Amino acid sequence: MKLILLGAPGAGKGTVAKLLTKMDGSVQISTGDILRAAVAAGTELGKKAEAAMKAGDLVSDDLIMGIMGERLKEDDCKNGYLLDGFPRTIPQAEALKVLLADMGETLDAVVNIDVPRDVILDRLTTRRTCTDCGEIYNVKSNPPKVEGVCDKCGGPVVQRDDETEEAISNRLDVYNEKTAPLAGFYEKEGMLLTVEATSSDDVINAIKEKLGK
Ligand code: AMP
Repeated sequence: MKLILLGAPGAGKGTVAKLLTKMDGSVQISTGDILRAAVAAGTELGKKAEAAMKAGDLVSDDLIMGIMGERLKEDDCKNGYLLDGFPRTIPQAEALKVLLADMGETLDAVVNIDVPRDVILDRLTTRRTCTDCGEIYNVKSNPPKVEGVCDKCGGPVVQRDDETEEAISNRLDVYNEKTAPLAGFYEKEGMLLTVEATSSDDVINAIKEKLGK
């Protein structure tokens, strides 16, 4: 399937994407993961993105479209893709529309995962991430078996730089200002499925029902 997963930071886009990839071999494409890997590797891209990411601001649309223009043409996208954290601005959505039209592709749906703000804040402050494989944990509900060590790959499980209270608050403001308007954009395109759910399973079921899977 080819989906955009919309939703505030902490809404569960990544978790839902990971579950969906297991269903039909589609691939999760997270611009946040791509950028974090570039920062960790110290590449030119990473250097350009690092300061904005740390502050919880968005990196430039040009940089993101450069990444996605390449990424969507890779072989593993043939079985479908779940766009997690992209697009995040109206200009990115417009540019994606042109890119997909050029590639002769259409999306199945845009899923807007709508989670109350207090749940989001709690999730983000308690979330921990493996810096090596990106696996996500939660100190309260899903801690790694050994504190600070990833169950899957043994990598370090840490709090992300942009998950300090200040950066989280900025990320949510940026989301409301720049990304939330995408729901209206895709509603006009007739592609929007809004799911009000805090459980990933409920989100998956709503998607399956919408796509008749
Ligand atoms: P995420 O893991 O999706 O929360 O992304 C982490 C950070 O990467 C964001 O706070 C932004 O600084 C940057 N980022 C990720 N995706 C995008 C995007 N589509 N447009 C602009 N900045 C992005």
